[in-house]
Amino acid sequence: MAINYDIWLILLSLIAGSFATFITFNFVTRIYHSAHSEKLFLLPIYATTVGAGIFGLHNLNWLALHAGEAMHFSVSLTFASLLAGLFVGFAICFTASKKHIAMNTLFSSSLTIGLASYAMFYLSTIALYSSALLNFNIPWLAISLLVSTCVGVVCILSLSWMKEYAGKNPLLIKTLLSISMAASTVVLYLTFNASLVIRADSLNIAEHVILNRKLLAAIITLSIICLFLIVFAAAMFYEKMGKSLFKFGFLNKQNNAMEHALSTKDPLTQLPNRLVFQNLLDAAAKRCARTGNTIAIAYIDLDHFKPINDNYGHHVGDAVLTAVAQRLQAAVRGCDSLARIGGDEFSALIEEIKSDEDIIPVVERIVNAIKLPFIIDQHHIEISCSVGVAIYPRDGDIEKLMICADTAMYKAKENGKNQFKFYDAAIESAADQISELQNDLRNAVKNGEFSLVYQPKLDCRTQMPIGAEALIRWNHPTKGTILPKDFISAAEHFGLINQINDWVIKQACSTIYTAKKFDIDLHLSVNLSHQQFRNSLLVEETVKCLNKYDVPAQNLTFEIKEISALKNDAQFKRLLAQLKDANIKVALDDFGLHPFTLAHLEDLDIEEIKLDRIFTSKIISNANSKGMIDAVVRLAHAFGFSVVAEGVETEAQRDALISLGCDQMQGYLFSEPIIEANFFLVFKQLQNQAKLNKQRAASLTVAYSA
Ligand code: C2E
Ligand code: CA
Ligand code: CA
Repeated sequence: MAINYDIWLILLSLIAGSFATFITFNFVTRIYHSAHSEKLFLLPIYATTVGAGIFGLHNLNWLALHAGEAMHFSVSLTFASLLAGLFVGFAICFTASKKHIAMNTLFSSSLTIGLASYAMFYLSTIALYSSALLNFNIPWLAISLLVSTCVGVVCILSLSWMKEYAGKNPLLIKTLLSISMAASTVVLYLTFNASLVIRADSLNIAEHVILNRKLLAAIITLSIICLFLIVFAAAMFYEKMGKSLFKFGFLNKQNNAMEHALSTKDPLTQLPNRLVFQNLLDAAAKRCARTGNTIAIAYIDLDHFKPINDNYGHHVGDAVLTAVAQRLQAAVRGCDSLARIGGDEFSALIEEIKSDEDIIPVVERIVNAIKLPFIIDQHHIEISCSVGVAIYPRDGDIEKLMICADTAMYKAKENGKNQFKFYDAAIESAADQISELQNDLRNAVKNGEFSLVYQPKLDCRTQMPIGAEALIRWNHPTKGTILPKDFISAAEHFGLINQINDWVIKQACSTIYTAKKFDIDLHLSVNLSHQQFRNSLLVEETVKCLNKYDVPAQNLTFEIKEISALKNDAQFKRLLAQLKDANIKVALDDFGLHPFTLAHLEDLDIEEIKLDRIFTSKIISNANSKGMIDAVVRLAHAFGFSVVAEGVETEAQRDALISLGCDQMQGYLFSEPIIEANFFLVFKQLQNQAKLNKQRAASLTVAYSA
């Protein structure tokens, strides 16, 4: 069929399309920045508006491309076509306003948009022509579906990109994109039109009402513009009613919607963001200078928040953060301000205070509020927070105040978390030490200042050495040897532990390899930090390292602290499964220090339990400790784990452990942790000693029986 264009109608379609698309950018941005409850009612309104706009545009395009024909109208088919248009609007708004759009979501949505657009076109066509007399032009049909899917992709990506756009010229970019999208809709209709071959005698006049084409086009254009203007005005009125801090900013030339949203509010918790907090702080400091008053800031950092995301998924993490924000809001006073300043970091500006005593109840309420369990998606989640408090003007100028509060917070974390700490001079010197430690540690990683020492593990029954634990030492260029207790947690805090532990594993493999030259089949345990649970490459890298040194996987054991296993349950189990596949053994370190349920132990696929040194040290003096070891040994054996007692220092402790059926021992009684060169020698000596003991026992038995 020959196409008769009506250039004026095409222009009209371009204008109405550009206008509608421009406002759709604001709609999508607004949906994206709304809270879940708000989204539930904003999305249907905006999607319906967009869908109705698309239907209107479709009719304009249709009219523009059928310029020479009389117009006919079927109510039922037109209604069906409208439904298809609404569906397209919904698919666009829903997908484009998503936080992350996965590749498959993008393509399935775009394909749906393409098919629904074609359906809309087809329904309108058969409203005018008898469907029996229509033929499809298959190549053009394929092209038109491809083009419509591509238009869907471009449309979703543009809307989605702009919802977070905070760069230059947002108005210009939106205008250009809107015009391009309206133009691509016109092109799309050309391909749609080419896909249907219409015979001249197929005009299906009988059932149709004849309308004036020009009048119809004018009505449609006006309807689209009015519809968008009305919904947009209603939305702005809603904002004005104070429903949200976020304004569209469409009419405000200085602020585009996105910039404004980014500069004021955290989208998840609806709390002011760091920038706003800084402004509030500056303003409060100026007031203080005028009135001589004091203000304080509380830097609030959640303890153990990261594992929540890892274990339960980001949606649960987000829900926890939202609930935390609500609790914090309830904990501060009406005159205080609260902000979210980072991932799991919040800050409170505490005003109208006369002395430190006025601050304490507020920060106490903050700490206590977070301590209470959260029930989210039927998960029972327990976290806590560490709070650092700094006071202005006492602790420093306003630029320094956040750093002081952060430093005090770090001290609160170091002191065992779940508490608050005031900034003071002692903390200041600690802060200096911390930054020095951080620098030194970075250098240590760079310059390879670490070494491993090895402590033998002995079989209780035969006293034969059967392996060793590798323990790290930091050989500081000026401070000498530094023990792990003085740098491991700092390395974890500064994100250096993975690099350090990678080196430990490599060094351990190298030592197992070297041991072969001394005719020792060395089984070595290395300590794993809980942060390595998140390292998805841990097992793969370890296997590579084992292969490189030609070391069997069963010669390596990872020691994982009981507390880390408890706190990172899901990740721990995932890691256990991977390690099992790789044939690498796992020991539960420092066992007995924390309540560990039996049910928990039962479904853990581990090989070994390492009883904490504290129990060994009390085995003689304290009957309860002895009873506890007895119970743990029985329980572990029932589950098929072997028990290693740490910190054996006296013969009395050794004998008591043997009598309780403990499997292995390590401690200063046998050997302190020693450097590799001496270790092989000591290992051999211990082997010889055990053999000698065995021979002596055998000859004693013979003498006795003779
Ligand atoms: P751990 O895994 O419980 O290691 C046992 C600690 O007890 C070692 O301290 C060891 O030297 C000490 N020890 C051994 N026998 C005795 C004894 O008879 N009496 C006494 N009083 N102490 C004994 P060290 O080497 O200072 O290590 C402390 C902790 O640092 C380790 O506790 C482990 O959790 C951590 N660590 C050590 N090396 C590494 C490492 O390479 N990576 C990681 N992530 N942590 C490590
Ligand atoms: Ca250990
Ligand atoms: Ca231990």
